[in-house]
Amino acid sequence: MKEKVRTIISHYGEDPKRFLGSISPPIFEASNFAFSSYEELERYQDGEIKKYVYTRGINPTTEILENKLAVLEKGERCKVFSSGVSAISAALFSLLKSGDHIIGVNSTYNPTYEIISSYLARFNISSTFVDGRDVRNFKDAIKSNTRVIYLESPTSFTFEVQDLPNIARIAKDNNIYTIIDNTWATPYFQNPLEYGIDIVVHSASKYLGGHSDLVGGAVITREELIGNIERESSLIGGTLGPFESWLILRGLRTLPLRMSAHYESAMKVASFLEAHKRVIRVNYPGLSSHPQYNLARSLMRGFSGVMSFEMEGGEEELKGFINNLRFFKIAVSWGGYESLVFPGRFAFEKNRKDNITLSSQLIRISVGLEDVEDLLEDLDQAFSKAFLGHTS
Ligand SMILES: *Cc1c(COP(=O)(O)O)cnc(C)c1O
Repeated sequence: MKEKVRTIISHYGEDPKRFLGSISPPIFEASNFAFSSYEELERYQDGEIKKYVYTRGINPTTEILENKLAVLEKGERCKVFSSGVSAISAALFSLLKSGDHIIGVNSTYNPTYEIISSYLARFNISSTFVDGRDVRNFKDAIKSNTRVIYLESPTSFTFEVQDLPNIARIAKDNNIYTIIDNTWATPYFQNPLEYGIDIVVHSASKYLGGHSDLVGGAVITREELIGNIERESSLIGGTLGPFESWLILRGLRTLPLRMSAHYESAMKVASFLEAHKRVIRVNYPGLSSHPQYNLARSLMRGFSGVMSFEMEGGEEELKGFINNLRFFKIAVSWGGYESLVFPGRFAFEKNRKDNITLSSQLIRISVGLEDVEDLLEDLDQAFSKAFLGHTS
């Protein structure tokens, strides 16, 4: 694909001629597709023809989405799933077997941590979680049975970045597969396959969908690795429905516009927070004060709208701040049009081993598409109310 990303999003995989000229593709809300004759069924079974058969495997609406996401992420093939965690599980299951070892990042998304540390452990797959900021930690954790290195860059509560090209190189040297969760950056800002990573996973519930109205996931990789993922995902059955596929397609059409707006507003919010007297620290890779700013800049073309910060005071002030916000809703998830806030103290399970501990004063915010002046004013008044009566 030599075209640029906005042209790809508009045109790639679309073919109105197939659908009576319909510009927006129809939602094929069908579980199954009929064979025209016994002979056609026979040819299909013999692998002579391809055909839509059953929506757990392939569906025409979903197929448009998969083709578009594959190209956007600069991969060869994509399989979409009923959730991000379903996509993550399918990618892991496609590569791992009993006796294998996997290396993860210690600040990874909590359900991912659980899949790797407890679910896979039941099948005799062991794991080591490392501080992902130093490439040497991955090297040191490699064992003779290490099969997968699982990355998430930046991580979605502490916004730590991993050196993707160098980790990919170390993995290749040791015959280890690499998977990355690229949900935060989106394919608009970062394409890890170009750095040698083998498999990209996404929660489409976040920016890809972008409207907080669906749950979905995606795996993008090269031809050679998709076979297992398709076969096993069909067995596990985490299929994305045709309607959700259509909603993600609709969301994708404005991905570049939304991401540019999130980026612009998030930079202003991050700078505002960094300068605020009630803020101890801001975690946002777009700030030049981020300890990995140069690495982040070298990997990503831009930065999305999710960050975290530590505020002064204790739980009372944190509560006061959150309860006094007008536009930032208190909710999990992120990546929608609306601004959100979530306290870090509820983010990770308490029993995570090898874990970093999140500051109890940490707050994650997802900067939405509202006018940023209103968001800054909202944050400022919430700080004032939270610290009412404090003198310094
Ligand atoms: C939300 C999220 C997921 C899981 O996606 P679901 O669609 O909720 O299953 C995975 N990774 C990251 C970084 C996320 O934020």
